[in-house]
Amino acid sequence: MASLAARLAEAEPVEILRVGLERYGERCAIAFSGAEDVVLIDMATRLDLPFSVLTLDTGRLHGDTYEYLDTVRRRYGVAIQFCFPDGDELAQLVNARGLNSFYKDGHRACCAVRKVAPLRRALTGFGAWVSGVRRDQSPATRSTVPVLEADPVFRGADPLLLRLNPLAAWTGEQVWSYIREHDVPTHPLHARGLASIGCEPCTRPVEPGQHPREGRWWWEPPEARESGLHPVRAPGH
Ligand code: SF4
Repeated sequence: MASLAARLAEAEPVEILRVGLERYGERCAIAFSGAEDVVLIDMATRLDLPFSVLTLDTGRLHGDTYEYLDTVRRRYGVAIQFCFPDGDELAQLVNARGLNSFYKDGHRACCAVRKVAPLRRALTGFGAWVSGVRRDQSPATRSTVPVLEADPVFRGADPLLLRLNPLAAWTGEQVWSYIREHDVPTHPLHARGLASIGCEPCTRPVEPGQHPREGRWWWEPPEARESGLHPVRAPGH
């Protein structure tokens, strides 16, 4: 694992993705957030290798996100597996704390039920998964994201669940260049000022010059702005 990670450390995203798809095929799941990580689905389709796609339907997404997920499904002809929160866990959370408890109590409890637990359940059926996280997305939490590792958070179908982050070293500009060059469909809210898109109540537009992550969980400190899907990856952690 360490030698593979070292070999791929400087590789292009498509080559990192190829490793997961060649080794695992449909047992490799691209976790599509419904935003500019769509480039991973575009790359995987061009590789013409089997793969799976997961997405987390938290129940709090923008209406435009549902439309966009359908656009991507049709454009690439991929089956998108939706992962939903457990009904009992969600009822317990909402009935105890209310629908918008995250503004007062912090987002972790809501993300745990709506994001982390559904992905944990889904990944038990896979040997590898792919996320679109990039180091430039958050200096406070993602600046040392590796391109490939044994998953430190989740467990899969095998003793080792491989986590691939093919876009780790890419900048947002590189992602958008790829999108333009390959005519990749984009989320309509990008054009309306949302640089980083998550759940509707926890996402807002950013001003020119502001870091995209400023639009997510803006009421909390930068080092707390992770849902729990990805470990904090910054110097000192
Ligand atoms: Fe809940 Fe906001 Fe997390 Fe979505 S991003 S799961 S609404 S706290």
